[in-house]
Amino acid sequence: MSYPNTQLFIDGQWRDASDGKSLAVFNPATGQEIGRVAHANKADMDAALASAQKGFEIWRDMPAIERARTMRRAAALMRERAAAIGEILTQEQGKPVIEARGEAAAAADIIEWFADEGMRVYGRIVPSRNLAVRQLVVKDPVGVVAAFTPWNFPINQVVRKLGAALAAGCAVIVKAPEETPASPAELIRAFADAGVPAGVINLLYGNPAEISGYLIPHPVVRKVTFTGSTPVGKQLAGLAGQHMKRVTMELGGHAPVIVCDDADIALAVKCTAGAKFRNAGQVCISPTRFLVHESVKADFVAALTKYAKGLRVGDGLAEGTQMGPLANPRRVTAMAEFMADAVQSGAEVMTGGERIGTAGNFYAPTILDNVPLTARIFNDEPFGPVAAVRGFTDLNEAVKEANRLAFGLAGYAFTSSLKNAHLLSQRVEVGMLWVNQPATPSAELPFGGIKDSGYGSEGGPEALEACLNTRAISITNV
Ligand code: NAD
Repeated sequence: MSYPNTQLFIDGQWRDASDGKSLAVFNPATGQEIGRVAHANKADMDAALASAQKGFEIWRDMPAIERARTMRRAAALMRERAAAIGEILTQEQGKPVIEARGEAAAAADIIEWFADEGMRVYGRIVPSRNLAVRQLVVKDPVGVVAAFTPWNFPINQVVRKLGAALAAGCAVIVKAPEETPASPAELIRAFADAGVPAGVINLLYGNPAEISGYLIPHPVVRKVTFTGSTPVGKQLAGLAGQHMKRVTMELGGHAPVIVCDDADIALAVKCTAGAKFRNAGQVCISPTRFLVHESVKADFVAALTKYAKGLRVGDGLAEGTQMGPLANPRRVTAMAEFMADAVQSGAEVMTGGERIGTAGNFYAPTILDNVPLTARIFNDEPFGPVAAVRGFTDLNEAVKEANRLAFGLAGYAFTSSLKNAHLLSQRVEVGMLWVNQPATPSAELPFGGIKDSGYGSEGGPEALEACLNTRAISITNV
């Protein structure tokens, strides 16, 4: 199966780095090099900045309805090309091709939602205290957006940022992931083929710290948006703060799953087991800290373990694969460290807990029971295919435990009591809570965290608002 080399996209042109430098891209299922990605230098970044400024001035002045039409054409192309793009994504990232195709097709839905929402950016007229004065509130695009995205959802993370920014009338410089470069490039190709003017979208790869360190302080860039780990997010938000840039941060999570004594256990297992092992657990909203009432814990753990044992792990391109490899060797090392620590702390390994084979980054779906609070896995984001379970007897204690960590991204709860559901919705400190259901992070809903999981939103009208300046204008008749 073919895999393309990836170039930079600057001023409407696909091009190599000006000094010809490139990096290798590996297939996580085999460990083999499958292609190259261009590595931008300072001259390329300067070209992208100049191009984005030019692109912004064109896109800003295009009527919203025209922008929406162009975006809708890009969405149609993504839908048309989803099967082929999915195969590219699986080769560089590892997820089962059905998930990869789903990610490519879902991008179309996100683009369409933002395209429509972009036509509803309204200002207002505020009655004045003086009849001779007209007071207007107007919304303008913030300018050039610098977007930094990771390797776990190479298309989804870009399209959420791109959709909101383009709908608001902004131009964008995307710094996409070097480890999974070709699938986000295909997303950008869809926009280019749909007729987005040259300069409106620019795409860079290279040294992430070098690129963020150059772009964020640059006067052309007016907004910074990042998805990735909390430590890097804090660093970039700090830099953006020094240069007074608008910021959206979508950072790490460690999602609590609270299963009450009155929960429908079959439903709880069905909703969380699939979510747990999707993308081999490398998902910021993945259910990770399972807090299960002692009266139902044995049944819950048995069912979750049965599900994990039955999963078919393999190359994402192979027929019937349900879980692929981890995306890079760093995750395999991280899993081994989490596991050694958990076992030493006294956790019980119900299944998994080890690497599969030596070729590629395969790791067994893992269930840990009776995990002590002191184990690292109950404190640091695992970002892998492991569910850590412990029991509780008092719901208030479970809420306290859910809130103990600095993370506040996603949470899940299962209960048949309205009273419990209300309590949990009021008290669990997360940006997104799903009760008696799996995660449904659709384009129309805010997507983002609180506390150390970041701020701002990548869904709903809030995502658009984050790409707009609000200005007040008063005009007096003379
Ligand atoms: P990492 O923390 O170094 O990198 C995370 C992402 O940030 C990568 O895409 C990387 O290219 C980017 N990055 C790193 N330093 C940067 C900088 N100075 N400027 C701009 N971008 C920068 O480590 P990693 O091994 O790639 O991932 C490890 C952890 O990151 C995971 O355990 C997980 O907690 C977190 N992560 C979170 C998400 C998410 O969806 N929130 C996605 C990927 C990784």
